[in-house]
Amino acid sequence: MTVTPDHNADPRELDKFGELAHRWWDPNSEFKPLHDINPLRLDWIDRCVGLAGKRVLDVGCGGGILAESMAARGALVTGIDLGERAIGVARLHLLESRQQVDYRLISVETLAQEAPRSYEAVCCMEMLEHVPDPASVVGACAALVKPGGQVFLSTINRNLKAYLFAVIGAEYLLNLLPRGTHDYARFQRPAELARYCREAGLSMEEIIGMSYNPLTKIYALGTDTSVNYLIRAAAPA
Ligand code: SAH
Repeated sequence: MTVTPDHNADPRELDKFGELAHRWWDPNSEFKPLHDINPLRLDWIDRCVGLAGKRVLDVGCGGGILAESMAARGALVTGIDLGERAIGVARLHLLESRQQVDYRLISVETLAQEAPRSYEAVCCMEMLEHVPDPASVVGACAALVKPGGQVFLSTINRNLKAYLFAVIGAEYLLNLLPRGTHDYARFQRPAELARYCREAGLSMEEIIGMSYNPLTKIYALGTDTSVNYLIRAAAPA
């Protein structure tokens, strides 16, 4: 598919998040899974980067759950998203939390042209499975990170188990997410993301799994990458 830089977005996906945006900070809303996984990913990123004082970009930041929590650890955070309502909610929430985050309505591809090699860490969490051309997003993340910096990606694997857990389980059986949240065809295998990283000049450093136990309702990081997983890649110094 040829996608011009500013059109690597699916308006239906942005609308889906826009309609729910006012509930972003309600920890018992449709965004509960993001609230629940946030401490895990935040601690992992902080361990790898040492967030205090670092310039960090959060791509597809939504209402700002990760962005704000990184700012609370002392990072200088920029959050970008193409959902107007999500960015609106993120900005409003700063009044309540008194954190500082620079939120911008801009595509990652455009920001990559404007401010290449600007960030010590670039995060793009739970967003790649919603965009038409994820390789273009990974390429832009690679362009935005400083030499020696790190890129953190998370998404959903594509296999039968991922379909059963992430779509049937989460959307139909456990009602963790609204029906239609995820489109199986857009899920990405780790090998595919690893290829996008390599093609963008990043080296793969780590891949970790994230699993959900429906009985204890607890998320955990571990070695099982069969459904949700996170990748850390590094830019050459
Ligand atoms: N990264 C956040 C939010 C994930 S929800 C977190 O993990 O907490 C997915 C987000 O991706 C939504 O805010 C949606 O508006 C955004 N999004 C979808 N397509 C996008 C695109 N092409 N460019 C930027 N953001 C996009």
